[in-house]
Amino acid sequence: MKPMERMQGVDEETVAQWRRDFPILEERVYDAPLVYLDNGATTQKPRAVIEAERAYYEHDNANVHRGVHLLSQRATDAYEAARARIACFLNAARQEEIVYVRGTTEAINLVAQSFVRPLAKPGDEILVTAMEHHSNIVPWQMVCEQTGAVLKVVPIDESGALDVEAFERMLGERTRMAAITHVSNALGTINPIRRLVAAAHARGVPVVVDGAQAIAHVPVDVQALDCDFYAFSGHKIYGPTGIGVLYAKAERLEAMPPWQGGGDMIRTVTFEKTQYNAIPWKFEAGTPNIAGAVGLAAALDYVSGIGIEAIGAHEADLLAYATQAIQHIPQVRLIGTAPDKAGILSFVFGDVHAHDVGTIVDRCGVAVRAGHHCAMPVMQRYGVPATVRASFALYNTRGDVDALVQALTRVREVFGA
Ligand code: PMP
Repeated sequence: MKPMERMQGVDEETVAQWRRDFPILEERVYDAPLVYLDNGATTQKPRAVIEAERAYYEHDNANVHRGVHLLSQRATDAYEAARARIACFLNAARQEEIVYVRGTTEAINLVAQSFVRPLAKPGDEILVTAMEHHSNIVPWQMVCEQTGAVLKVVPIDESGALDVEAFERMLGERTRMAAITHVSNALGTINPIRRLVAAAHARGVPVVVDGAQAIAHVPVDVQALDCDFYAFSGHKIYGPTGIGVLYAKAERLEAMPPWQGGGDMIRTVTFEKTQYNAIPWKFEAGTPNIAGAVGLAAALDYVSGIGIEAIGAHEADLLAYATQAIQHIPQVRLIGTAPDKAGILSFVFGDVHAHDVGTIVDRCGVAVRAGHHCAMPVMQRYGVPATVRASFALYNTRGDVDALVQALTRVREVFGA
């Protein structure tokens, strides 16, 4: 379901209220008010998240699962309560299904190394799509090198929509994993995950979903999606950097060996034999990012307080407004026009390199991304070296879009384009 179909956009006063929650939005850059349109790379943090981390360090800081003293218990409680909060946000069946990681990249590497690598034989196949981020390509190429498995790539059409029938056809006897992004960071395409998972499961193929670009924009219910694994990063959903989540069905985690050894992931250690801890701690070797977990839980509370549907509706409104406005600029070619899209607008500007566009626009106070967005195969698919990308968050406004369009006229002036 598209966000637009669920809800109308949000009124300006409501967005103005949300904006007040984000202190960084008061920054000025080059003597202009900051217009932050690089949310696909990372989102800004509301005061609630900043405060939660500060309060943790001021009142509770200690190591988890180790001390008998009160602070250690408080830190452990906060860390485990955050896990329960995350499970609830994703509608996971059990909180043991939530593994803390550094981010999406680490989550996918964990699945690749601990789940797929031990299973894969030479000639086995791993399916990815043509719109994946490098972090959902390279870990699989590494597994292929390690095992002799082969990477298969499901094509996309010119609009950037996945060829679902090709996906279904490409699922075979030898497919060991389907690794699919929920939302493309370079194109904005939203993939029909439920349908893809059903097709994969009908052929006995497990699915890992890269949720990095979806988590802050579309409702995610892992039980409804029925995916085996779902990965996301805290920093893309108004939370801290350095903390992320791997959701995995409990039976998958139970069957997987740990991928890093160390403190906390063990039950007993002797020089002869080590007994591993229960899930999810079996996958959490070493002192974790405790403050990050606390901050992430605060971010999820913040987002839930607003409602992901309201956020999605607001961003859909911005996307529609921006798509229309930018198409009036003759030099602009949109890259990614799939029917079902999240708030990501990727484009090229005549012959001007995306980095030049990004630099000029930045001087006007507008922060956008310019480059290959860690999705070089997407760039190759469209025959461009790079794109400019504006990506929306709950605090963006139509005024931000107007500022971008205005800044693009400056690019025209500079390059005589
Ligand atoms: N997948 C996608 C679709 C992304 O957009 C990103 C971040 N740009 C990642 C994976 C990697 O996320 P992280 O760097 O937080 O691990």
